[in-house]
Amino acid sequence: MKKWLLFVAVLALSLAWGLLRERPVTAPSVHSAEPLTPPLYAADTGTSALVRREVVLMGSQFILVADGPHEQALAAITAASERLRRLEAEISSWKPGSDVYRLNDNAGKFVTVGADTLTLLQLAKQVHADTGGAFDISIGTVWDLYPFRQPGAPWPGAEQIAAQLKNIGADRIEIQVADSKVRLPPGMRVNLGGIGKGYAAHVAIATLRGLGIRNAAVSAGGDIYLLGGKSGGPWQVRIANPRWQGQVIEQFTLRDRAVATSGDAERYVVREGKRYGHIIDPRSGLPAQGVQSVTVICDDATLADAYATAVFVLGPVEGMRWVNARAGVEALIIDGEGYVSRSRGWAAATGAAS
Ligand code: ADP
Ligand code: MG
Repeated sequence: MKKWLLFVAVLALSLAWGLLRERPVTAPSVHSAEPLTPPLYAADTGTSALVRREVVLMGSQFILVADGPHEQALAAITAASERLRRLEAEISSWKPGSDVYRLNDNAGKFVTVGADTLTLLQLAKQVHADTGGAFDISIGTVWDLYPFRQPGAPWPGAEQIAAQLKNIGADRIEIQVADSKVRLPPGMRVNLGGIGKGYAAHVAIATLRGLGIRNAAVSAGGDIYLLGGKSGGPWQVRIANPRWQGQVIEQFTLRDRAVATSGDAERYVVREGKRYGHIIDPRSGLPAQGVQSVTVICDDATLADAYATAVFVLGPVEGMRWVNARAGVEALIIDGEGYVSRSRGWAAATGAAS
């Protein structure tokens, strides 16, 4: 089948679906939040300009935008990109020699890791405890059972899932902070996919700030931090319908905040007509159901990423309760039917009239 024909068919179907479907009373759904930024333009040296760079890291598209004197912004973005490459080399789970690869390869033994990995593992354990285990980086062996990487590969059986569930539990990861050593229990495999991009946004912003940039936006595959504003006004964030990316369902401005989205729109498999996203519920070992997308706003990009994944697992009701119980954390959840709910402080945090 010609690819374009399939594309046109899918587009027509989604348009028809969008028009015909009775919409929930509130707006439909979100998926990827991405700063709306003008394209890179190089103004005369010395004047303030937006420098924008796109790079592919951690299997995702990263966008870095810095506002400042052109040469300075350019140098800062280059430094941040290099910093991100080093981070990727350290935390990627499939690159032989990376910290995460060595940890997984040596489960049962202490392994010396770098500072970024150590910080990430500590935060991941903290969020695991804080979410009652909904966020669990040790989901690796269960996640690997599913055909997310090779569509068409067999679906795991209940016994296989049950057997691998015995290997999870991030609370069992031992960390010796003083000598940067970590030990996974035998059989455990970690995967930083649910927290690594948020941390990447954080370190990119830290690098830019360290080089004197006061206004910047970083999107690490949809996990975003917005520093300050830009010459023309505040940074804009838009949330798109996960089932129809062309439709912006919410647009707002943010300053000195992180915004992260977890959804089932990008990486998923369809089995017997049902869509399964790549976030696993550690309680059952099954792909989490009942949510299309979760967008979290908070101060810290690493936590925003991990929280979005955790709230996705907890689901619209329990997830929203969890968010509302935490000061400084806001969320917009789109449930499996496309209904949107917002946390109590969402309107205030996004500047919308309440
Ligand atoms: P995205 O990568 O689309 O931004 P997430 O931040 O939610 O989405 O991360 C999803 C990734 O997190 C999965 O691909 C997997 O590597 C990992 N993961 C899956 N389930 C969990 C879980 N319950 N807790 C922590 N990480 C998870
Ligand atoms: Mg996440």
